[in-house]
Amino acid sequence: MELNRNFNDIKESYLFAEVGARASAYASSHPDKQVLKLGIGDVTLPLVPAVIDALHKAVDEMADSATFRGYGPYEGYGFLRDAIKNYYASYGVNVASDEIFVSDGAKSDLGNILDLFAKQNTVLVPDPVYPVYVDTNLMAGRKVIYACANAGNGFLPMPDYKVKADIIYICSPNNPTGASYSTAQLKEWVDYANKLGAVILYDAAYECFITEKDVARSVFQIEGARTCAIEFCSFSKIAGFTGTRCGYTVIPRELEKDGLNVNKMWLRRQSTKFNGVPYIVQRGAEAVFTQEGQRQIKENIAFYRRNAKLIADCMDRLGIWYTGGKNSPYIWLKCPGGMGSWEFFDYLLNNAQVVGTPGAGFGENGEGYFRLTAFGSERVTAEAVARIEKLFG
Ligand code: PLP
Repeated sequence: MELNRNFNDIKESYLFAEVGARASAYASSHPDKQVLKLGIGDVTLPLVPAVIDALHKAVDEMADSATFRGYGPYEGYGFLRDAIKNYYASYGVNVASDEIFVSDGAKSDLGNILDLFAKQNTVLVPDPVYPVYVDTNLMAGRKVIYACANAGNGFLPMPDYKVKADIIYICSPNNPTGASYSTAQLKEWVDYANKLGAVILYDAAYECFITEKDVARSVFQIEGARTCAIEFCSFSKIAGFTGTRCGYTVIPRELEKDGLNVNKMWLRRQSTKFNGVPYIVQRGAEAVFTQEGQRQIKENIAFYRRNAKLIADCMDRLGIWYTGGKNSPYIWLKCPGGMGSWEFFDYLLNNAQVVGTPGAGFGENGEGYFRLTAFGSERVTAEAVARIEKLFG
């Protein structure tokens, strides 16, 4: 037996462990101080009543032999795929139900999709980056190259025709930077991918936070995307499913190469390695798209948006440079006074008892930057903002 030695190439993920350890050490040596956490990328509001009702109803169905369900379709139940199709249609994007594959979340699909691509593909990811894109490719032994995101390009790197890539990751609105591509910018990436014969793996996990009209909600709003892109989306942020687990991936029928069709390959892959998302969970996800569900989830999203605005407004008042906050729950700020990411982490913890995430943990270009999130409670966010303002105002 030999093990996959590519695992030697993956860095240990110390980021959140180190953040947690430093925050706990501070809290135990300063029991009189209240530490406020704006570091997490997880939602905090509970599932909305429409989803809870649908989940309860589905549980009852499972208790009755007349309505009990066993194995479901690998690609997801028709009722949910149709609901997702209609959601896309609601903002003018046409995708067919059989181009939509329901899964237990975007993270799994982002990793699993790599089964479809040869090892020798070169992978282009932005730096800083959601670490899953890098580690899943390193595990498979692929070469990973980086597109430089920095203050100069507003953390939105654009295609460079001198760079040859086969698999291109785009996350917009971005984690960790909150920066979001406009439809015009995304068109440049789509043209580049089509020219190179590359595929774009488009992560739309934060699509629900978009407010501005010219920001792309789906890569399939862009002409030409159907021949070069796969879209990953999730119920995690739109409806608080981080613990309930449900997502979906859209693969257009036109995406093919050398007689192989990616949509068909994915169905083949899923039917071999995946037995579907629980019926109960899919009924819960379906309820997100009902009128009542939409009204309720929008209230929750508005709550997170208000928190994001509190933080962004504070940065504006202090004159601190940042991206995100508008179409994203993340505020990615330049550490004041030229501090490094971890230096600023310690400074903020010691002087304001506020915890965020050091940008350096997301890649070399993250050094000197810091991520705050809008997923906390309103009280915690407002208090953290007041303390930051006092410290730097
Ligand atoms: N993609 C990005 C950019 C994320 O930040 C996250 C989670 O934080 C995910 C995907 C994972 O989503 P899911 O909960 O659907 O697995």
